[in-house]
Amino acid sequence: MTAAGNDRLHPQDEALDANQWMAQVRAGLGDLMAKGCDIGQLEAYIEKRLKELGRPLLEEAVQKLADRQALSCPRCDSPLHVERHQRLRHVFSVFGKVPFVRSYGFCPRCQERFYPADHAMGLQERAPASPRVQEICALMVLESPAAQAEANIRRLTGLDLGQASMHREARRQGERALQLRNADVALTNTAKGVRELARRAHPPKGKFTLVIEIDAWNIRERDHWGQSQKMRAKGDDPSRWHWVYAGTIFRLDQRGKTASGRSVITERGYVATRQGLEAFEKQLCAEALQRGFTKASSVLVLAGGAVWIWNLAKNRFKDATHRVDYYHVCEHLWTVAHDLYGQTPQAGQWVMPMLRWLKRRKDGALDVINALREIRENLQELTAKQQETLDREIGYFEGHKNRMDYKNGKALDQPIGSGAIESTCSQYQCRFKRTGQFWSLDGDEAFLALATLHRNGRWHRLFPHDQQKE
Ligand SMILES: [Zn+2]
Repeated sequence: MTAAGNDRLHPQDEALDANQWMAQVRAGLGDLMAKGCDIGQLEAYIEKRLKELGRPLLEEAVQKLADRQALSCPRCDSPLHVERHQRLRHVFSVFGKVPFVRSYGFCPRCQERFYPADHAMGLQERAPASPRVQEICALMVLESPAAQAEANIRRLTGLDLGQASMHREARRQGERALQLRNADVALTNTAKGVRELARRAHPPKGKFTLVIEIDAWNIRERDHWGQSQKMRAKGDDPSRWHWVYAGTIFRLDQRGKTASGRSVITERGYVATRQGLEAFEKQLCAEALQRGFTKASSVLVLAGGAVWIWNLAKNRFKDATHRVDYYHVCEHLWTVAHDLYGQTPQAGQWVMPMLRWLKRRKDGALDVINALREIRENLQELTAKQQETLDREIGYFEGHKNRMDYKNGKALDQPIGSGAIESTCSQYQCRFKRTGQFWSLDGDEAFLALATLHRNGRWHRLFPHDQQKE
């Protein structure tokens, strides 16, 4: 099928003769060298001229691809009632603007009009960017705010997108990432869906331990767009802090050490959302399934002491080993030490044996509780504040004593600290907590979803042309 009446769109007339082109480029390079230049200037010149070759090739191929597309509904596959217009569309590609025509039709079942070729070619409705340009926008915005990203894209690719449209494009990709994530979460509702998620995991043969670490950080958002000035005039702050719940999941055998002894995790899953605890729980489960949860011989949940974390762990990972981060626990003991002895060497002398008991004794936590109780009951002249601290910390150790099996954890070569999730949170915060940066509620969830999809090694699900596909 040819695009009748649209021959002007085909590139034959303006086709470049390759030999002619080579001669022109050589001449251009000669001029540059005569004026004096370095390799970078030669590279930039050739790169620019190569686009002249790429654009007509892409234009020709895009039209062929559009012509080849069957006229059926991209949603339900029903044949479309074709309204045989060859509608013109332009796509903004890395080689410049490329025109093509395609047919469209009406789906009687979906009661909607579709352009099947647009769907098949990876184009989004009323969005000018080609899939490669979509990807570039998404990648650059993940790394830096839109203004800076736009300048970098222009420098690296010669594309002049404009800040607003680049931001819009990246946002659109975030929305797509969000849809993919929601579809994965929806799979957890059925047995068939759970099997599908589990199939995506590639666990090793034999026994393995899955580690799940959980934490939260906060993000600054602007709740009342367009009303900031009014609110400030009234003395109200238009920004708010909201919690972002985060998790990371990896197998114990995916953890190793660098030559300098630093812990590294070769592959792991991530979850991050600001849509509340319930949403987080579901996303964490979907991710755990995709990381081999159903095949794991043991599961370890590792986190700080926050109540919500352990409620979630009880709820969702009942049979797992639960462990409170050792370093959080140390801080609690240091708080008592400083309350009792101030900033003196005595404080250290008092606390060090207990830190060792926790690591080395089977029931180290019980020994710590007994020691704290003994002080509470026998030490004369405790101030009210010291008593209060001791009571609070005895309560803390009582509440978490079953989550302090550090001796056993070390024997099994498991982590006793939740450093992996803490570094995850600070990596996210690097991007999401720039000075002066505000996010809207919907916008930041879309960007979180995009950043998380990228970290999870699923970029190819948005961009099938991804060359790093795992
Ligand atoms: Zn349909």
